[in-house]
Amino acid sequence: MISFSIFNIPVRVQPWFWITMALIGGALGADTKQALFKILLFLVAGFISILVHELGHALTAKHFGKRVEIVLQAFGGYAAYSGGAPLSRKKTLLITAAGPAIQVLLGFVVLMFAGQFDGMSPQAMYFLRILYGISFFWAILNLIPVLPLDGGRIMESLLGPQRIRLTLKISMAVAVGIGLLGLTITKSYLLPIFMGMMAYESYKALQQVSYR
Ligand SMILES: [Zn+2]
Repeated sequence: MISFSIFNIPVRVQPWFWITMALIGGALGADTKQALFKILLFLVAGFISILVHELGHALTAKHFGKRVEIVLQAFGGYAAYSGGAPLSRKKTLLITAAGPAIQVLLGFVVLMFAGQFDGMSPQAMYFLRILYGISFFWAILNLIPVLPLDGGRIMESLLGPQRIRLTLKISMAVAVGIGLLGLTITKSYLLPIFMGMMAYESYKALQQVSYR
């Protein structure tokens, strides 16, 4: 496991982060040196982009007096925060929104930068393309209003604790819808499996709220 600090925030990168990112990057079909090199670039780009996303959450939480840490794990990462004063709904909303927001910003900066140079090597160009590609894709995927994704958390903060049942119902319905859509469009089981798991979590949470 790799551990380091950035802006005084401890970061841990679990081995599963690299393994699952390599799978997403197409490691199973890579049989040439060139294909392997592309996966390596995908890993570096994914690492940078997801770390920036989590830094958005972590730096905002730190600004509000929280103790924070970042963990990159299988299929992504999270920023955990603890201690300090309890957060208002607005502050929680800001912490959640800061992740996708800074990642989209990174995407735009890289996109503009990539357009500036004509004489760039194809490899460097390829790297910048996947860096902004991952940044936009990851941010948008995370903004889907399904718990525990950022979009679901934003919805939770906006609707408030009084409407937690509505939040969970929307989360469940959207997860099922996106899962079915993903199955028909991408023909890959990854997205439907994730959405199915999240729909089930929302369903369980809804049962608990109902019996309280
Ligand atoms: Zn996030």
